Amino acid sequence: MLDLEKVTSGLLDKDSRYLWHNMASYGAGKEPMVVTSANGSWIADSRGNRYLDAMSGLWCVNAGYGREELAAAAYEQMKTLAYYPLTQSHLPAIKLAEKLNEWLEGEYVIFFSNSGSEANEAAFKIARQYQRQIGEHDRYKFVSRYRAYHGGSMGALAATGQAQRKYKYEPLAAGFLHVRPPDGYRRPPGQTEEEFNLECAQAIEDAIVWEGVETVAAVIMEPVITGGGVLVPHPVYFERVQEICRKHGVLLIIDEVICGFGRSGRKFGHQNFGVKPDIVTMAKGLTSGYLPLSATAVRKDIYEKFQDQQPYSHFRHVNTFGGNPAACALAFKNLEILEREQLVDRARSLGERLSAEMADLMECPLVGDIRSFGFLMGIELVADRATKEPAPLATVNRIIGECKAQGLIIGKNGDTVAGFNNVLTICPPLSSTDEDLAFIVRTFKAVVNAVCAEGGVPS
Ligand code: PMP
Repeated sequence: MLDLEKVTSGLLDKDSRYLWHNMASYGAGKEPMVVTSANGSWIADSRGNRYLDAMSGLWCVNAGYGREELAAAAYEQMKTLAYYPLTQSHLPAIKLAEKLNEWLEGEYVIFFSNSGSEANEAAFKIARQYQRQIGEHDRYKFVSRYRAYHGGSMGALAATGQAQRKYKYEPLAAGFLHVRPPDGYRRPPGQTEEEFNLECAQAIEDAIVWEGVETVAAVIMEPVITGGGVLVPHPVYFERVQEICRKHGVLLIIDEVICGFGRSGRKFGHQNFGVKPDIVTMAKGLTSGYLPLSATAVRKDIYEKFQDQQPYSHFRHVNTFGGNPAACALAFKNLEILEREQLVDRARSLGERLSAEMADLMECPLVGDIRSFGFLMGIELVADRATKEPAPLATVNRIIGECKAQGLIIGKNGDTVAGFNNVLTICPPLSSTDEDLAFIVRTFKAVVNAVCAEGGVPS
């Protein structure tokens, strides 16, 4: 019989010597989990524990774990053609680009990369170059929102509006501006959601005008700010943002890295708001996390401005691994699975059920607000309901820890903006079963209610 404890401690010993983890802060008792296998919505670790992964890894395993079909799609493609760069072409990329176009319900041309950050970097370069090629030589600035995340590279991090992710890495790429996000929960007293959202949209127009319209290339935003705290706008927000962008000749880039591929209950998050983006970036759920792949979808008529025969008119951007044939073949199969199993509709119905079942948590004084977008939920914890003072990090971490002790992995908006890392997040695979949903609800509510009942937080 294998001594799992001994195996695990051997692995952790090497782990601490050789591996530098994402986002890790170091200190006693903070050892990582060594994840060994996964199936459906469940993962298993080297100690033999099982957990329901209600964060889909990093918000990405939309189709669920353990899909042999996805492994087979990559394997078969690797046997036929493991690699060729997209300076030329190959069948999996052609098929996937056509399919994405269908999902986007518009005419787009697709540029492939490997990560969400890279997809956004490509979008920024395309937006700047496009503006110059239509004679708008001074348009180089981008507007995004505080609290939003757009990636870890120097441009994508510059677009990010989370000071705690940027501190000690600045200066980043120049030309990125931020405005207030539509955080309806914290709107000024007396204002309706609609009025507040219109005011937040107006902040974008003000920034564009005050900066000088002729200097602004694009606005980038997620349909819903996800990792920054699940901030769901009122529909008037997007309507107005789109109008503002069109009025001022500013491109609208929609970052669908988390909201895409069914998460929102529609194929893409922006489809909930009737927006027609100029550029759409996507990653994560595109392959359900099975292989790295991302895409920048560009409106056809924008792409066409890169076609004239001037020496520098083409997009001088190469990505060695972007659009890798196996990743594309796998992504195509992933989209087929989402369609065949109707997981986009399932996300909507699971999301509705999750919201309905969680609603009575509002009786717990610790819970200030519950927000959801499809099968994605944010639970904002507060120390005081009247003042909306955010709950201390210790309370947030305690709930996460106790859920884990009971076999449920949930997340939070960590290291974002000072004092506001108080939103718990739930983002399970769209393939979750009814039993999985019941387990999430039962476990989460039991933990939150127990913490509330202890009176560990003021009411
Ligand atoms: N945009 C959004 C909205 C994201 O959530 C993320 C990653 N969490 C990214 C971009 C960056 O993606 P990646 O980590 O693949 O570079």
